[in-house]
Amino acid sequence: MNKPYRIVMLGKQGAGKGTQCSKLAATLGIAHISTGDMLRSAAREGTEFGKLAQGYMERGDLVPDEVILGAVRDRLYRSDCREDGFVLDGFPRTLAQAEALEEILTPEGVKLVINLDVSTEVVLRRLSSRRVCTGCGRTYSIDFPPAVDWTCDDCGGTVVQRADDTPEAISRRLAIYEELTAPLIAWYEAKGRFVTVSGEGDFDAISDEILATVTRF
Ligand code: AMP
Repeated sequence: MNKPYRIVMLGKQGAGKGTQCSKLAATLGIAHISTGDMLRSAAREGTEFGKLAQGYMERGDLVPDEVILGAVRDRLYRSDCREDGFVLDGFPRTLAQAEALEEILTPEGVKLVINLDVSTEVVLRRLSSRRVCTGCGRTYSIDFPPAVDWTCDDCGGTVVQRADDTPEAISRRLAIYEELTAPLIAWYEAKGRFVTVSGEGDFDAISDEILATVTRF
């Protein structure tokens, strides 16, 4: 694949999309667009967009399409995305969002969809042990905490459990994934340019496979 890369990463919550997308984006020199990160930083800053989204996020519900679509469209129209490309993480999550994305990217469309596949059992374990820096968003876990007292190794921010990583919100988010997001797998598969990569096992081996997949296309 040549620039501009236009990649979508699909996968359940806790599949490792965030960390893999951030590594892929750094390697390819493209934008990592995580709608979850966009919404969390807007909520932290208290913008109108963030205020609209906060309640949905804390319950584990999807933010309405009309709230998220404008923000994604604005971001994708910026020159870095047009010239170098992007990897989308956490978007699209519904068929309506996938159709809107096609329209935003007309006529070129998405070049590759990677489905990062992890079993429900593994994501449940990962999500309940996940901890996140409130400053920079770096992810830790109870098995791999920061060096000093839940203070981020990178920025010194406080590392906490996400409000939507509670058992109730996790089961709600996974049910919504199955109902609304999982159907996108068959939808994109039918269009071609779709590859499933296992997200279980060694982090570097998974990122090597993702990069090899992108290079092959
Ligand atoms: P994530 O970090 O991707 O798990 O997203 C965290 C939360 O942000 C989700 O549970 C939703 O409430 C919201 N969110 C993120 N991306 C989207 C999206 N594409 N559509 C609707 N809501 C989203």
